Amino acid sequence: MSSDATRIGVLGGGQLGQMLGLAAIPLGLECVFYDPAPASPARMVGRHECAAWDDHDALARFADAVDVVTFEFENVPAASLEFLAARKPVRPGVRSLELTCDRVREKEFLRSVGVPVQPFAALASAQDLDLALATVGPHGVLKTRTLGYDGKGQRVVKSAEELAPAWDALGRAPCISEAFVPFDREVSVVAARALDGSTAVYPLVENLHTRGILFRSVAPARVPDALADAARAHARRVLDGLGHVGTLALEMFVADGTLIANEIAPRVHNSGHWTIRGARTSQFENHMRAVAGLPLGDTSMDGPAAMINLIGGLPATREILAIEGASAQLYGKEPRDGRKVGHINLVARTRDELDRALADAEALARRVNRLS
Ligand code: AMP
Repeated sequence: MSSDATRIGVLGGGQLGQMLGLAAIPLGLECVFYDPAPASPARMVGRHECAAWDDHDALARFADAVDVVTFEFENVPAASLEFLAARKPVRPGVRSLELTCDRVREKEFLRSVGVPVQPFAALASAQDLDLALATVGPHGVLKTRTLGYDGKGQRVVKSAEELAPAWDALGRAPCISEAFVPFDREVSVVAARALDGSTAVYPLVENLHTRGILFRSVAPARVPDALADAARAHARRVLDGLGHVGTLALEMFVADGTLIANEIAPRVHNSGHWTIRGARTSQFENHMRAVAGLPLGDTSMDGPAAMINLIGGLPATREILAIEGASAQLYGKEPRDGRKVGHINLVARTRDELDRALADAEALARRVNRLS
């Protein structure tokens, strides 16, 4: 495929798809979204192919209608992806999905490209429990290998005796047992790689989660420059190691001044939403540029920026806009406990100005947010 892809097929039609679709319009790109859910937020910004993942007629129609396929949702069934990959280029490649949808393979990959991870062990049968304890120690986190998100499918284990019951509670599914990291802060790097292998890496982001769901991202993270540079170098290793085309996020812990990678999201990511206002080119635009074979845009920022998630409820839009430097991004989703329905982006000239706006935005979000 040359650099003239203009019709982009997006697997998944959630808010990430919606923001990809919005970024596509000024680039002259047209999106078609594939999503089994009829009320997909992305249907407002492109054609929506509403069909089941195993509907081969619909998948074939979708493949015919686009030049290239990408995704905003990484749990696309492997068979559907294979079906599409036989017909149109899939960007990022299947390798990016295969190595990140399974937490054990993901950690093995991270280690293989020189990105530090905590001790971990695979847990598939009762015989593995002892080895997991010996490798990880008594204080760990047990997570299902696949399909976990926003802290779902995981249990914190605080002693050797708690491991077997925690595994029972996860239905004895194939799991990863990993050491608990007593982190000082959580950070992420959002970065993109173009078809020609060139990369564009955003400033380091500091994230705060509430009950496993991202609540706040602030960029640039307040860490020493050397640590931020190391984190960004890790993201480049991941991009190159995967041969990724498009945007991804590498989530890491900072513990005792060192970085430990937690996971890779092989797609645009919630911790990069601030780039819509806060960076010269958003993560969504850079993803679309990469997928279409276009050159990547500048990732630098003109001042500090932040994002606050609206989860399970929305304030009046005018309350968001009353905050200095704030913009609203509402996804058009029916509010439900624990569901991300929008976010507030903040840009400022100085860190003090950002901190004042953050205090207002956080108070507003805390008033309306409903976590499950
Ligand atoms: P994950 O689904 O892996 O992104 O985990 C969700 C959240 O759980 C993370 O953002 C952390 O706040 C916490 N967490 C996950 N794994 C660990 C770990 N090994 N040690 C400490 N906290 C963790």
